[in-house]
Amino acid sequence: MLDEFKSEQPIIYKLLYNSINKNKISHAYLIEFNGYQKGTDFVLAFAKYLLCPNKYTNSKLCGDCGQCEAIDSNNFIELKIIEPEGQWIKKEQLEELQKEFSKKALIGNKKVYIIKGAEKLNNASANSILKFLEEPSEGIIAILTTENIYQVLGTIKSRCQLLSLIRPQDKIKNKDTKSLLAYHTYNNNEDINNFLNDECSSTKIDAIVEYINYIEKHKNKAIIYKNKPLLELFNDKKQLEFAFNWMILYYKDILNYKLKRPLEYFFQYEKDISILADSINILKLCKNIEILVDLSEKIKFNVNNTMLLDKLVIKLVEG
Ligand SMILES: [Zn+2]
Repeated sequence: MLDEFKSEQPIIYKLLYNSINKNKISHAYLIEFNGYQKGTDFVLAFAKYLLCPNKYTNSKLCGDCGQCEAIDSNNFIELKIIEPEGQWIKKEQLEELQKEFSKKALIGNKKVYIIKGAEKLNNASANSILKFLEEPSEGIIAILTTENIYQVLGTIKSRCQLLSLIRPQDKIKNKDTKSLLAYHTYNNNEDINNFLNDECSSTKIDAIVEYINYIEKHKNKAIIYKNKPLLELFNDKKQLEFAFNWMILYYKDILNYKLKRPLEYFFQYEKDISILADSINILKLCKNIEILVDLSEKIKFNVNNTMLLDKLVIKLVEG
């Protein structure tokens, strides 16, 4: 039940709780798991909360609710769960869903469908569901889930309320940017300690923040003035991969800021982030993360680093 997530996901909990009690439910949600292990359980608890006629959030109350019981035993006709079949979510699965959901709910007044792995919606399957997502019949609620929101097609994202679960980072004591990035970047204690004790690490983190700030402000000029210094600082393929990774996290924090979620990594740069958040819209932020993910895949191949960075700037700058 939803109450189980009250302490680990306080922000989303409150938001969903209020929206249901004030009857301001969106017709489509896209929930990013963001490394949170219990994401699937969370989504089921949310679906249960939507469907429970008594609005129970707590299983102690729920002894007499047949709906919640039926959902628990995977046996409730007004809840449908769709998962990718093979590599993609197929168009046929979604057509089937829409057929089933063309009738009104028999029990209660809501029907909920969950699409797991929304990044597995390709253009064909996404197109077949866009209208249904945007203008569903009364009482139909969509919950889409994904590990990473930036891998989901823009046409889907723009039709959903975007929510992101918090990744628990309890094992890290000092929640400063340097420590968080150290644990994110390296897998073993020796590397982590080296990174933490190296003064140059802070310079590198500053450089990434400054680099993105510069691109967002001065656009293509970054190619002339910033790419060479950056490559001198991140001077091999491994280093460059780290740089791309941190840029992704920086953009993710700008997205966090924009969606009024807590920052995950770049706490010390909140001022920079607030400025950028004013000038970039959510879709472009997701697009930029996507660009970085795509190009970072290419680093390990035999590409020229300078050309790769030039390409990055051009793509980040274009509308
Ligand atoms: Zn119930």
